[in-house]
Amino acid sequence: MSVSDFAEEFRMDKSCPNCDSHLMRVSQEKNPDDKVFCASCNTYVCLYREAEERLENDSKSEKEELIERVTNKDFKENPDL
Ligand SMILES: [Zn+2]
Repeated sequence: MSVSDFAEEFRMDKSCPNCDSHLMRVSQEKNPDDKVFCASCNTYVCLYREAEERLENDSKSEKEELIERVTNKDFKENPDL
């Protein structure tokens, strides 16, 4: 049986240090201490706990950035207001 039978793939902002892929693989249990590997070349990237923290931080900052961007856009697209 291959390793992928027990793993799930997900995208992470941090890329693989070896092949620069953002597709990561982690065990289905997703324990905080489980290792996250690059799905392409199987390089160890970080622990799932670190990946999870990154995912939470990212979605938060992305939302804030989006709000900021929309606000700026409104100003630029309505110069007459
Ligand atoms: Zn890789």
